[in-house]
Amino acid sequence: SCEETQEEMRELENLIPGLSEQYRLVGKIGEGTFSTVYKAIDLQHERYDNSGWTMIFDAGRDQRASQRRRRARVVAIKKIYVTSSPTRIANEISILSELRGSRFIAPLVTAMRREDQVVVVLPYFRNDDFRRFYSTMHIDEMRWYFASLLGALEHAHSHGIMHRDIKPSNFLYDLRRRHGVLVDFGLAERECDQEATRARSRHTLQMDASTAMRLFRSFDQRGRPGIPRKDTRPGLRANRAGTRGFRAPEVLLKVPRQSVAIDMWSVGVILLCMLTRRFPFFQSTDDTEALLEIAVLFGRLEMERAVSQLGRTFLTNVPTVKDRGIRFESLAKAYNAEGYPNLPPDVFDLLRRLLTLDPEKRITASEALQHSFVVGRK
Ligand code: ADP
Ligand code: MG
Repeated sequence: SCEETQEEMRELENLIPGLSEQYRLVGKIGEGTFSTVYKAIDLQHERYDNSGWTMIFDAGRDQRASQRRRRARVVAIKKIYVTSSPTRIANEISILSELRGSRFIAPLVTAMRREDQVVVVLPYFRNDDFRRFYSTMHIDEMRWYFASLLGALEHAHSHGIMHRDIKPSNFLYDLRRRHGVLVDFGLAERECDQEATRARSRHTLQMDASTAMRLFRSFDQRGRPGIPRKDTRPGLRANRAGTRGFRAPEVLLKVPRQSVAIDMWSVGVILLCMLTRRFPFFQSTDDTEALLEIAVLFGRLEMERAVSQLGRTFLTNVPTVKDRGIRFESLAKAYNAEGYPNLPPDVFDLLRRLLTLDPEKRITASEALQHSFVVGRK
């Protein structure tokens, strides 16, 4: 309720030393898995008068400095749950500060801490709710949406950083400004860090390849993958963080060496949602079922080939998985009875390149920015 939020905000202001001198919390904007995000006014740079929030330090400053301040006057304060591990929090902050400098990534303003309570301060970005626009979005608007999202990923990926949780709620898009910023680097990971983990756990991984295979071999009569209820076998050490429905096949298969290509798959899933006007598109709650959903789209043969390429085995007797897959064009038609007006063929070409099972062959962010669909925005 509103009163609870007020209470929470006052508590947070009192909890972190110096917070209330610098910021005044005005409301809650989000509640995620790992944090609560509040909207706040930057008090050091603002003064209230009857016309609204105005600048106080403008006089004598150059235009660029004042623009910077104008953007920073409203902030988002992300209160990270104390249950998050300190290394995770440190990771998010260090990645955010490394990625400063792209206009498609929310830049870190500051971070504050008291004991195990950490808050991250970002400029506030007004944005439209994906659920409100994904099904009515004009094709030209999609070009702009992906130009921003791919711009953010090009930047992160050039630093060897995988975001690992690309999905609409982590990409704040402003329809009016035709501009979006990527947020939430809470699960982000450097490609190189991952190799260090892998080297340490080589032994575990060999044991686990067979675990994964066993999982795929057992199916019950209802044609659903059979998963041992209490699987006490050691899990794969590969990172499988992310959000259901957006995980790339190599993440679902727990391939130990993952690359920035995992984010490109998730971009493809967003585009698929728009073209089929269905969000979320993939519904399954566990990884094995998620692979089956993907297999239904790609067909058994292509799926088997790609999965073996990733060093795993894909076996299924689920009747909905046909030998051959479904064309994305037919899929979009099937979900849009009246058809989507003016869908250019190149949007499907981009979709196919993003939703490519083999991460090595999947389109990269910089390549996608050069794709005719994205370049064609007016
Ligand atoms: P979590 O790790 O809890 O998912 P996020 O960083 O994704 O945290 O933030 C949760 C939500 O808060 C986002 O989905 C978004 O709606 C809102 N939010 C986060 N950062 C900002 C920002 N800079 N400007 C506006 N809204 C934001
Ligand atoms: Mg989030």
